[in-house]
Amino acid sequence: MIKSKQIRRPKLVLVVDDQEINRDALEVILEDDYEIITAENGVEAIEAIEANASRLSIVLLDLMMPVMDGFEVLRRVTADEQLRHIPVIVLTAEKSAELRALQMGASDFITKPFDVPEIILARVGRIIELSEGRQLISAAEHDKLTLLYNRNFFFEYANRIFHYSPELRMDAIVMNIEQFHTINDVNGRDFGDDVLRVIGNEIRAFLAETEGIASRFEADRFDIYCVEQPDYAALLKRFQDKVNGISPNVSIHLRMGVKPWKEDVVPVLLFDRARAACNMVRGDYQNPLMIYSEDMRLREQMNQQLLNDLRVAAKERQLTVYYQPKYDIHCDPPRLSSAEALIRWQHPEMGMISPGDFVPLFEGNGLISIVDNFVWQEAARQIADWKQRLNFRLPVSVNLSRADVFDPTLVDRLVAIVRENGLDFEDLKLEVTESAYTEKAKDLLDVVRRLRTLGFAIEMDDFGSGYSSLNMLSDMPIDVLKMDMKFIRNIETSDTDLRLVKLILDIAKYLKLYVVAEGVETEGQLELLRDAGCDLVQGYYFSRPLPPEEFEKLILKEKEIERQ
Ligand code: C2E
Ligand code: MG
Ligand code: MG
Repeated sequence: MIKSKQIRRPKLVLVVDDQEINRDALEVILEDDYEIITAENGVEAIEAIEANASRLSIVLLDLMMPVMDGFEVLRRVTADEQLRHIPVIVLTAEKSAELRALQMGASDFITKPFDVPEIILARVGRIIELSEGRQLISAAEHDKLTLLYNRNFFFEYANRIFHYSPELRMDAIVMNIEQFHTINDVNGRDFGDDVLRVIGNEIRAFLAETEGIASRFEADRFDIYCVEQPDYAALLKRFQDKVNGISPNVSIHLRMGVKPWKEDVVPVLLFDRARAACNMVRGDYQNPLMIYSEDMRLREQMNQQLLNDLRVAAKERQLTVYYQPKYDIHCDPPRLSSAEALIRWQHPEMGMISPGDFVPLFEGNGLISIVDNFVWQEAARQIADWKQRLNFRLPVSVNLSRADVFDPTLVDRLVAIVRENGLDFEDLKLEVTESAYTEKAKDLLDVVRRLRTLGFAIEMDDFGSGYSSLNMLSDMPIDVLKMDMKFIRNIETSDTDLRLVKLILDIAKYLKLYVVAEGVETEGQLELLRDAGCDLVQGYYFSRPLPPEEFEKLILKEKEIERQ
């Protein structure tokens, strides 16, 4: 052991502390692995550092000392070209001093009274390794424009605060500029830079008053890690006011997401959530602030699980299709005329999940086509089964999502499904939600026209929930209007709603479109709709969506009526 030390000189460590007992303690901990020299105050420390600059691997530096304190030593070391490569770990009992020391360029802390020896050894070893690998972040790296930290330095620093000052309740703030690229395009890059600089200045002014650090990355995203603030609306307003002062001709909107401090949540995760919160208020100029809540976390967790579980669900038949009847109310009694196929997910842990909880989620990322494909296949198989086994022909409508409509293989897929199950095109009806018609309208109309030419009946779903005007209807390739439930809900009590429904029915008649009223729950609603000339009704009044075995009973009842 001693021999090997003599052959290869051990690394040199300078321990600076005015208390002998502390110097001794560190010597005992480190002496097996390092060569130790000591100093009792700042002046001695600087002398020792200068004398050993080329050999010194690390300095362990007490902050509170007579003659010259540790901050001054740190300042001189980091200011000196020749010395600043030497990493410094500060020794302190005072938490508030740690942050300041870090800001001044210290690499790490060791808290007094001293941690267990293993931790000190590990920390010293790691910092030396880092410095030898030149990855040491002793000198802060700044964004030149705003003088805030760059991303890597910011997170390294935030992690240290998190680990070494756990008593500080540090919140994560993400701030963004709405439509920054447009501001750049319209007003020029110099103007855009001004905006960023103004925000950077104000953030630094804010951080001079509050403990914290900040960074800019991704052009217009600002991350602030600071002790919890009493009023984030006021903080956002402070930045917004500054930005408002830049130019009377350009309106610039900031938005902010905040993830409040939580024990055990590391900075990177905090900022992920703050960013998610910030994204949620994108474009919402009325409410540009979002504080991440427990609800959002649970929702996010659930979404993540659903995303993970979908493929398995499709394979293991956790997905099933329910059917809700549509009745023709011109007849008395009303006759079963068709059905809508609606997806259900029986999740092994979460129980029955309604499509409202996952359809929008999967529409957002295109996975909805897995669901839809499954429903189409299943519905087609079911139509064929009822046709053969019960000798009953029941057309079923399936829902199409926007993602489906823009999939170039859509038409072929649907045709294949119809053929493989020996169906006619009229057996499988297609529901396309109204809001899909308002986006990329031309592409969508082309696809829908092709489907309709083949013989598929097209139903416009949720009509009245989007913005297509009544006079656009005449050009649209559709056969059926499905009136959104919100129209039906109050027709018994609201004269206006009833008049609206009648108006829609009149126009539909003029355009030779069938109308399905969705969400009919009461006899009163049914009567009003019948009197107004509505053709078909779907709703709890007749039946909730049912599993196929249950739905079969409706078919058998219908066959009974047929026979009479
Ligand atoms: P939608 O296509 O407009 O389907 C009608 C929804 O209204 C169904 O909800 C149905 O259960 C509900 N409903 C029917 N009658 C009544 C009533 O009298 N009162 C009330 N309050 N509600 C009634 P569900 O099954 O939860 O589906 C919700 C939405 O999820 C559907 O709205 C559709 O947009 C979507 N969805 C369902 N299945 C699929 C699918 O297989 N693929 C796609 N892409 N979307 C689907
Ligand atoms: Mg539908
Ligand atoms: Mg609907």
